[in-house]
This record gives sequence, C-alpha cells and structure tokens, in this order.
Amino acid sequence: MHKPQEILEKNGLKKTASRIDIVRLFMDNDFAISQSFLEHNLIQLDRVTIYRTLNTFESKGLIHRIIGPNNEVKYAYCSDHCHEGTHDDNHLHFTCLACEKTYCMEQESPKIELPSGYVINQSSILIEGTCEYCSEK
Ligand SMILES: [Zn+2]
Ligand SMILES: [Zn+2]
Ligand SMILES: [Zn+2]
Repeated sequence: MHKPQEILEKNGLKKTASRIDIVRLFMDNDFAISQSFLEHNLIQLDRVTIYRTLNTFESKGLIHRIIGPNNEVKYAYCSDHCHEGTHDDNHLHFTCLACEKTYCMEQESPKIELPSGYVINQSSILIEGTCEYCSEK
C-alpha cells in the first residue's frame, strides 16, 4: 500500500497538507466521495481548496468523476491505468439504494453498438441496487 505522499510525488504534485488529507480520505474509503463528504470529514479545509484539489486530481488521472442518482457528482480513486490527461475507467459503477454509497466495480462496461454517425467519447453505466454490506443485514 502506498502512502499519500508517494501518490502525490508519483503524479508530480506538490505535497501540501490539504492534498495529503484528501488523498488519504480517498485511500481510506472504498466508495466514491462527494464534495460534501470531503467538507464534512475535512473541516479544516475550505470549500474552494477542496474544489480546486479535486479538479487537479482529476486532470492528473488520480480520481475520476461519477455522476450518481440525482446528478450528484462523486469522485473515486483511479486504477493505475489512468495518467495525466488520459482516463481509462471503463468499468461499471454501482449505487446502493440503502446506504447511498457509490462503488467502482471491477467489471468492465459492456461494449455498446450505436448507429453509424454516433461516436462515443466516454460512457458511464450506473447500476442501482443493494451493496454487499447492506444485503448482509
Ligand atoms: Zn481515471
Ligand atoms: Zn449499501
Ligand atoms: Zn470508478
């Protein structure tokens, strides 16, 4: 397991305290994280810092954006396939209707055939249901 400092260094980012805090939160949670979750858990950081850091991390290929139910934006930690400017997060996402957490699935998104003339830049498939933690209850 890498340390937050190593992750930042590997991605050519300065190791500021706020970035370390945010990377650590992503590493500590296996579900996708919203801006409000970050604000709640990192009360020492202001909204603008969090917002800017998320944008930086996204453009560096560290995290990817997931649009959840009700168009809520969440971010999840990227796999090693992602690099600056090129995301390769071709996997399914799952939102649990019980705990409202969104998870990255290891399963790849199915290939979708579109009529000619339509070009896919990016696709994201969100599955709703009950997660493994909630279905055990
Ligand atoms: Zn990515
Ligand atoms: Zn759940
Ligand atoms: Zn994902």
